[in-house]
Amino acid sequence: MVETRKASGYIFVGGHLCLDFVNTEVIRDGGPLDLLRDFDDLISWLVQAQVIDKSEAREALEKWSGKREGIRAFEEALRFRAVLRNLVERIAKGKSVQQSAIDAINNLLGSRPGYLQIKRVRGGFERHVHAETVEPVHLLVPIAMSASELLCYVDLSRIKKCKNPDCVIFFCDTTKNQARNWCSMSACGNRMKVAAHYYRKRSKK
Ligand SMILES: [Zn+2]
Repeated sequence: MVETRKASGYIFVGGHLCLDFVNTEVIRDGGPLDLLRDFDDLISWLVQAQVIDKSEAREALEKWSGKREGIRAFEEALRFRAVLRNLVERIAKGKSVQQSAIDAINNLLGSRPGYLQIKRVRGGFERHVHAETVEPVHLLVPIAMSASELLCYVDLSRIKKCKNPDCVIFFCDTTKNQARNWCSMSACGNRMKVAAHYYRKRSKK
């Protein structure tokens, strides 16, 4: 019986799956830390991100954990995450989106067999893609879908990096007057405010 791995400090403050995926690379104790160490971590992140459920996770682990397909899918996940990081870094700086990023997203979107279905929901209908996970790399397709939604439907001026220079977390600022500066108030906001206050007091002396 394969058990899904325990939580390891994943951060879900991005507001979009693709941003949360980028945010699996963090700064801890002054140095970079990759929260995804292997295929099993990727699966545990996908569960926490509610991309797959626990039974899908168990199935994926049984089929691919420690196997060549799993290792390859994990390498592909890291490659795709690097593409996404570069993409959101550029967006946050107001730079143009590179064709190579669009190609990487399209490659993943085109890799998984699936078809659109509609289902009845409260007050109407909803469309969703019925897709099969034939290969482990197909697990990354929802992340590519999220990136495509970001590019197509989101006001890109709302994509920001946390204002703490020592933090690398990205998020979509959905506040009315686009006033969000921090990944989270507790992690960076308060710390930076205290530092600014201290600096102001010192510079008055
Ligand atoms: Zn931060």
